[in-house]
Amino acid sequence: MSKRAAKRVSKRDLPAHAARVWEALAAAHPDAHCELAHRNAFELLCATILSAQCTDKRVNLTTPALFAAYPDAHALAAADVADVERLVQPTGFYRNKARNLIGMARGLVDRHGGEVPRTMDELVLLPGVGRKTANVILGNAYGINAGVTVDTHVHRLSRRLGLARGDDPVAIEQELIPLFPRDDWAMLSHRLIFHGRRVCDARTPRCGACTLADVCPSSLRADDGAGA
Ligand code: SF4
Repeated sequence: MSKRAAKRVSKRDLPAHAARVWEALAAAHPDAHCELAHRNAFELLCATILSAQCTDKRVNLTTPALFAAYPDAHALAAADVADVERLVQPTGFYRNKARNLIGMARGLVDRHGGEVPRTMDELVLLPGVGRKTANVILGNAYGINAGVTVDTHVHRLSRRLGLARGDDPVAIEQELIPLFPRDDWAMLSHRLIFHGRRVCDARTPRCGACTLADVCPSSLRADDGAGA
């Protein structure tokens, strides 16, 4: 895909543009949802830590054995790191991830009675948990829209769709927040991620089959040159 920048949407037109994008995304992916398998906040936290640089599909193949061996924070906090490394090895970066999982579980036990906290400030103090992971937990496990989860798909699509110009996830999140109602923030991430995985691929976006092409300033269909 060309690195040429997406056509700019003027600041004045941005709210109306965002509303049109939202309408098209909702029509394309009405049932978008978190694709990491989990039964509770603890499992989602483990799965999200494992999802760094790994597909959700691979994480979902890995977590059943992990959750069977360590069903809660107390069990994981007492785990042997070599045992956890062996279980999470297929997700890559397994030494770091195993250390973060055990450190996170110890943080839950030491500071939160083994429960996953419900605030951004508390979550980001846990090992392996940044703002992105905290947004995933708050939005999906607790229904709290504290921010917008900006992963690689949200990052790429926000720029291609002309919703954001920033280059880092924190800047992009701050651009998205005023454009969408708070109640929609979690679903906005889900729909952008669904669209990124199924249609707007990083290297080969399928603009010809994309139902957002009419509202997308990067559409190859419109000008034969898509953006960043
Ligand atoms: S039109 Fe192309 S660049 Fe725009 S969202 Fe669709 S696939 Fe992505």
